[in-house]
Amino acid sequence: LFARECTFMRGAVALSGLPDATQPEVAFAGRSNVGKSSLINALTGRKGLARASNTPGRTQELNFFDLGGRLVLVDMPGYGFASAPKGMVEKWTRLVNGFLKGRPVLRRAIVLVDARHGLKDSDRDMMTMLDKAAVVYQLVLTKADKIKPAELDEVRDRTLAEIAKRVAAHPTLIATSSETGLGIAELRAELASLA
Ligand code: GDP
Repeated sequence: LFARECTFMRGAVALSGLPDATQPEVAFAGRSNVGKSSLINALTGRKGLARASNTPGRTQELNFFDLGGRLVLVDMPGYGFASAPKGMVEKWTRLVNGFLKGRPVLRRAIVLVDARHGLKDSDRDMMTMLDKAAVVYQLVLTKADKIKPAELDEVRDRTLAEIAKRVAAHPTLIATSSETGLGIAELRAELASLA
C-alpha cells in the first residue's frame, strides 16, 4: 500500500468542507508537537507532505491525504495547548468530535503519544471522545529514539495497563521513531490491513 503515491486531497476547517466519504479512512490524533507530521511523512515517504502545526495561532483543520486510491489518511489538528483560548478549544472539539461521530468510513484512529512523557490528561480526554464516538483507536508511541530501552519498556507497560481498561482501545502499542525508522514498517502493515 505504501509503495503507492500519497497526495494531498484537501483541508477542511469545518464539517461542511469534508471530502466525500468514498474510501476507508484512518485518522491521526495527538498533542501538538508529538511528532504527527514527521510520522505521516515517514509513513508515506514524502517529506513535507504533512506540515507541522505547532503554532497555536495556526488554522485548525483536518487534512486529507489519498494513499493510492485505497486509503485516506486524515491528519487531525493537534491538542493540548496549555494556553489555548476557550473559543479555540470549542472550535477544535466541534470539528474533531463532529468528524469522529459522523464518519462511517473511518476505520481507526491512531493516537500518538510522546514516548518521553507517556499519557497525559489531554490524551485521556481524546480517548474518552473516541470511546464515546465508538471509533477504535490504536496508541502509537513517538520519538522512541529519545529515550533508553529500559525507559521505553516502562512507558510501554504503563500505557498498556491503562488502555486495557478502555472500551474502544486496540490492545497493541507500537513504538516508533521517525528519525530511525523504528516501528514504521509495523505501523504501515497495520494500516494496510485496514485498506
Ligand atoms: P507535530 O506538531 O505533531 O506535527 O510534530 P512534528 O512532526 O512537527 O515534530 C515536532 C518536533 O519533534 C520536531 O522538531 C521534529 O523534528 C521532532 N520529532 C518528530 N518526530 C521525531 C522522532 O521520531 N525523533 C526525534 N528525535 N525527533 C522527532
